[in-house]
Amino acid sequence: MNISENLYVVKKNIALAAEKSGRKADDVRLIAVTKTVGCDDVAECIRCGHRDFGENRVQVLQEKLDGLKGLPEFNEINWHLIGHLQSNKVKYCANKVSLIHSVDKISLAQEISRFAQNKGIDVHCLLQLNVSGEESKSGLDPLEINKFIEEFAELKRIYIDGLMTMAPIDADDVFLHKIFAKTRELSVDIDRQKVHNMRMMHLSMGMSGDYECAIEEGATMVRVGTAIFH
Ligand SMILES: *Cc1c(COP(=O)(O)O)cnc(C)c1O
Repeated sequence: MNISENLYVVKKNIALAAEKSGRKADDVRLIAVTKTVGCDDVAECIRCGHRDFGENRVQVLQEKLDGLKGLPEFNEINWHLIGHLQSNKVKYCANKVSLIHSVDKISLAQEISRFAQNKGIDVHCLLQLNVSGEESKSGLDPLEINKFIEEFAELKRIYIDGLMTMAPIDADDVFLHKIFAKTRELSVDIDRQKVHNMRMMHLSMGMSGDYECAIEEGATMVRVGTAIFH
């Protein structure tokens, strides 16, 4: 595994895809997904200058935080929780990450809001949508967005900063473009409603197999694991 070389390649591909959609490489943030690797590989990535990391499970996130807290760069790191989050785990992570990508139901948002108010902090999240309609995927059904918004607008100290989606592993190029484009359209619709605690600044979409396609459709954050750590 040559992390430095892999990072270089992924960043170059990001720049090319961004250019294709008339944007700058800097408009797309690369989140290195570290769920399959240990602290040594994350530390190597940090030495290469990388600062955004994603974990999909709270327990594994905590192991990384414990293992890396001695590094001089530790306080510069942005941690992203990208996997499914259960309400009873909110207290173990909501004050430790920069962004929770996986808010997919109002009960979870309510729990985060309660926690944030108790702690006196603001918690920033993305709304995860199941745009492909795959039954196995988590994410809110787009048909339920309006009901979610109605209840979400009541909540304090939690902010939705954008949308997150995942495409099916076996999707072909045409379907991928459709899913990512649909997600972007939904973000435009939501922004039009001018909800006080929702602003569509980010689109978190794209993984190792489809990040270039996602960027062409407007992704501002890509979550890439295998392409960096292989
Ligand atoms: C694992 C994971 C990724 C990264 O997947 P790769 O195919 O390894 O790039 C992205 N997003 C989520 C939610 C993940 O769980």
